[in-house]
Amino acid sequence: MNKITNHLPTAELQALDAAHHMHPFTAGAALAKKGARVMTQGKGVWLTDSEGHKIIDGMAGLWCVNIGYGRSELGVVAARQMEELAYYNTFFQTTHVPAIALAAKLAELAPGDLNHVFFAGSGSEANDTNIRLVRRYWQIKEQPQKRIIIARKNGYHGSTMGGGSLGGMTYIHAHGGKIDGIEHIGQPHWWAEGGEMTPEAFGLMRAQELEAKILELGVENVAAFIGEPIQGAGGVIVPPSTYWPEIQRIVDKYGILLIADEVITGFGRTGNWFGSQTFGIKPHIMTIAKGLSSGYAPIGGSIVCDEIAKTVGEAGDFNHGYTYSGHPVAAAVALENLRILEEEKIIDHVRDVAHPYLAERWNALTDHPMVGEAKLVGLMGSIALTPDKATRAKFAGEEGKVGFRCRERCFANDLIMRHVGDRMIIAPPLVITPAEIDVLMERAWKSLDECY
Ligand code: PLP
Repeated sequence: MNKITNHLPTAELQALDAAHHMHPFTAGAALAKKGARVMTQGKGVWLTDSEGHKIIDGMAGLWCVNIGYGRSELGVVAARQMEELAYYNTFFQTTHVPAIALAAKLAELAPGDLNHVFFAGSGSEANDTNIRLVRRYWQIKEQPQKRIIIARKNGYHGSTMGGGSLGGMTYIHAHGGKIDGIEHIGQPHWWAEGGEMTPEAFGLMRAQELEAKILELGVENVAAFIGEPIQGAGGVIVPPSTYWPEIQRIVDKYGILLIADEVITGFGRTGNWFGSQTFGIKPHIMTIAKGLSSGYAPIGGSIVCDEIAKTVGEAGDFNHGYTYSGHPVAAAVALENLRILEEEKIIDHVRDVAHPYLAERWNALTDHPMVGEAKLVGLMGSIALTPDKATRAKFAGEEGKVGFRCRERCFANDLIMRHVGDRMIIAPPLVITPAEIDVLMERAWKSLDECY
């Protein structure tokens, strides 16, 4: 076999990929026929594929490359850390400087008394940690029956057994099942489910489903509620303004722990360090990953409040952890990423470029005959495709067919945008410039026109 490098012909790379590589969330046989697009380089918001196309990445990879591609500082830091101490564990009375420094930095950045970090390798793992952590907390508080976690339909919290079960995506539960002790309430998705109600009334109603569910299950059985400040993989569902204040009122009233899954909304995406700050949410735990290292190294974690950390810490061993919890190379890379986000004032840039520059252009998409609503918070946006804006109707036939076609046109026009059913979504690297926004918008309009 030839040595496999970027220099092999695309067809050869695709054939090897099809023969040996099982892709996540992908119909393997269909992809094998078509051939996966082979990405070879990234710089800023731009990707290059094996055929030399310059693609604008409207999704920051999987919502993670916040500082953009090609920042060599992170490579330098990774190499230095590998030479100095490539690995050591944090399990048995040992620690190391990158884990200490990253935990301390996160405690400084996180709001309120979120001062303690439990590291994981990904967002899914961190949410698995959260399941054990909140159940362990109530066990120590002598309420071991308090173990149900309430989450939301169409929420996404990862695809391990724990994360996938917290998520409310039934197509994930259908492949391998769902763990017990997790209940789902409705999502604050006004466009799809709000009917004749105003968004505000609908948001309130959906939040109040939490109270009804707590009462139905018995508050003595409910450990926590988990939600993404903005549902990302569910279609960038921005909740009505009434939603989070009501959720906060309910968790406060019943003493339920609140977990904000900030895997997408963390590290600048919504124009603040965390989405919880944008929406005025006061969580007991935040799940983090993705933008923590801008995707340069796999790392995730849970930022935990004083009360939970103290309670769990004082009760003896917490029987949970991962070989790569606080991995020194990943932690060093994450620290460098946070330094860049901070020193280059990238979160200020998000606010500057999102409103009004991108917002005006994004909202103007509703002038397109096929676009109903347009939503944008920071650099996270969605549009709803519809055959009838007035009634918010769905297209005839299989849901997502038009969205898929639109995504394919974007792909052909060297723009990465994702579709979730018949919603199109963006979450570009946070360093995107106004000129690059113009390119993104031009390609988005062209793609929409081509599938209309
Ligand atoms: N939580 C949210 C909100 C996510 O969007 C994701 C991934 O998209 C996850 C958790 C899972 O993270 P990972 O894919 O790193 O396991």
